[in-house]
Amino acid sequence: MTFKMARGKAHQTLLALCLCYAVVETISAPMDVATRADGSVLVGDMLYSAAQWQSLLARNLHSKEVLWPKTNGVVKIPYKIANPKINVTLLKLAISAWESKTCLEFPELPAADTTTAEYLNILIEKSCWSGVGYAQGRVTNISIAGDECDLKGIIHEFGHAMGLQHEQSRSDRDDNIIVITANIQPGDEHNYKKFDTVNYGIPYDYYSVLQYDDRAASKTAARVMLARDARFQKVMGEGKEISFMNMKLVNTMYGCIDDWLTNCKLSPEPCKNGGFTKKDCSCACPLGTTGANCENFVMSYNDALIQKLTPHSANITKPGEVTSPGYPKFIRLG
Ligand SMILES: [Zn+2]
Repeated sequence: MTFKMARGKAHQTLLALCLCYAVVETISAPMDVATRADGSVLVGDMLYSAAQWQSLLARNLHSKEVLWPKTNGVVKIPYKIANPKINVTLLKLAISAWESKTCLEFPELPAADTTTAEYLNILIEKSCWSGVGYAQGRVTNISIAGDECDLKGIIHEFGHAMGLQHEQSRSDRDDNIIVITANIQPGDEHNYKKFDTVNYGIPYDYYSVLQYDDRAASKTAARVMLARDARFQKVMGEGKEISFMNMKLVNTMYGCIDDWLTNCKLSPEPCKNGGFTKKDCSCACPLGTTGANCENFVMSYNDALIQKLTPHSANITKPGEVTSPGYPKFIRLG
């Protein structure tokens, strides 16, 4: 995935990594859709098995169909390091980031294991990409290669491996971004196709680790995405870690929250204003809320997020002088 979105660069790399649903409508393959020897299809940074690809073409592949199974109440996604040159430290940081925020477990398989049919096969091929979710009877490959596969990149690829799609391809993306198709590099239009994702009522998050930069796949370095909430224009692609909404989506998809509520003997959900019960039975509260049960609504998630990320932003309500210290440098706190 590369979306190390240093402004004005890396877009070329990104082209090779973005997802592409264009084929849903255009069976003739875009230029960076590659069918591999085993029938699987690499589309940008997402690898689909042959069966998944056929399902995608039939427009019925979405996140519910690629969930890893829950066995004895636990979702285990085993992984195996196929290449000893893998940066294990970085890999384990990415895994622990997901493990600490979800109920998913990622046990490491010994290289010699031959009994497990479905696991994440961590290898090094060209660039940074991943299979999408679970495929029965098959391994899900993840390639960790190149500078772009930094911690954020690996977290992003594991998101795909769990079944997540890119933020800008969500079914509700048009309510949140405007895609300027005229600015897309010809042949890369698939990067901006909308997909029929299942969002579980969880809102679009400009700060998602699955959100690309606004100039991704641009033919002229001009913007391809405009945030409908203009305050987030430069936030897109800047998410460096698992966002609250990423965490909530995965925990909802995999039934983690339901399991935690049961284990904590809590019903109904005591956490208010979009919060949810965590493993330790306390609430995970979205930005903009306070209180043990997130019961105090101070401001919306987006308002709180922008205040945290760009504290110099403000709504202009009357004529006056505007200064922009450090422009065009992106200013953020912590
Ligand atoms: Zn991706």
